Amino acid sequence: MSVYPYNSEARKGKIREMVRRGKSYMAQKKTSPESREKRGRGRPRHIDRSIVVGQADHYRVVLHQFWPKLGPRLLAAQSPEEIVRAVREDAAGITGSLVPFSELILRILHDPKFPHARSTSQIHFLSDSLGGQGFVTPRRSREICAEERTKVRHVIVRREYYIECSCGYEGPARDGACRNCGTGELSWDLRSKESD
Ligand SMILES: [Zn+2]
Repeated sequence: MSVYPYNSEARKGKIREMVRRGKSYMAQKKTSPESREKRGRGRPRHIDRSIVVGQADHYRVVLHQFWPKLGPRLLAAQSPEEIVRAVREDAAGITGSLVPFSELILRILHDPKFPHARSTSQIHFLSDSLGGQGFVTPRRSREICAEERTKVRHVIVRREYYIECSCGYEGPARDGACRNCGTGELSWDLRSKESD
């Protein structure tokens, strides 16, 4: 009986250690409301760009849904209080996403660049401005959204493992086969290990 490294006690200890450290790392990474406040009114050093776009996408979906009634009232609002009232009366399901940002929303709607023609453009402008949740300026939030949406997402198109072949080749496989002699056949030894 051969002893595989992952069965050894030392290895188990190492895995436990990694799990433990991983947990404390995650705990540190979490941004608590307190740490948000501690930073004060200044601009935060770092904002997760994917969160900004994620929030903006969420706003796009829900605002499309509520816009027929909510939109005209938001556009007519002259104070944060009017925004809050409009949201509570015409978009009760999403008060949590909008009410805390009533002042910000009013500023965004009164931005000289706010589109006046199509409601879709208005929803997109408002959503992308709100994506940063006030952590960044509405303008920066729109920039982040635009940049992230045009970013090309790369994917792994080939995944190979390291092989040693009886022909003498050592290195990455190609489509699971030896790059020198082309064999894809496993030795008796490997096959018996895999069926264990
Ligand atoms: Zn070979």
